[in-house]
Amino acid sequence: MAKTPLREEKPYRKWHRIAYYVLILGCALISISVIVSIATGDRNNIVANRLGYAAIVCVILFYGINMVKWRCPNCHKPLPLFGPVLNCRYCKRSFMDSKGNQVW
Ligand SMILES: [Zn+2]
Repeated sequence: MAKTPLREEKPYRKWHRIAYYVLILGCALISISVIVSIATGDRNNIVANRLGYAAIVCVILFYGINMVKWRCPNCHKPLPLFGPVLNCRYCKRSFMDSKGNQVW
């Protein structure tokens, strides 16, 4: 049985996805940090603090990756971090073809 070839993912899309995983990880770390501090009843719990710092690092990484990798392929200006990006707000380049597929 022939395997359906996966459409090759563009590097900037890949990095955008990785950045989202990092952000989700950061949210998970914050949740765990809050749960640990509630469970131990200690607001200065060392594990909770470390998880909190790790979460902050994740958020910084999320912005960092997007600043470096999530850019318009035409004018290389940064793109919006959230929501579908249908065109570039700087050079007005459209990222959709007539069928509504992403073409970049
Ligand atoms: Zn552009």
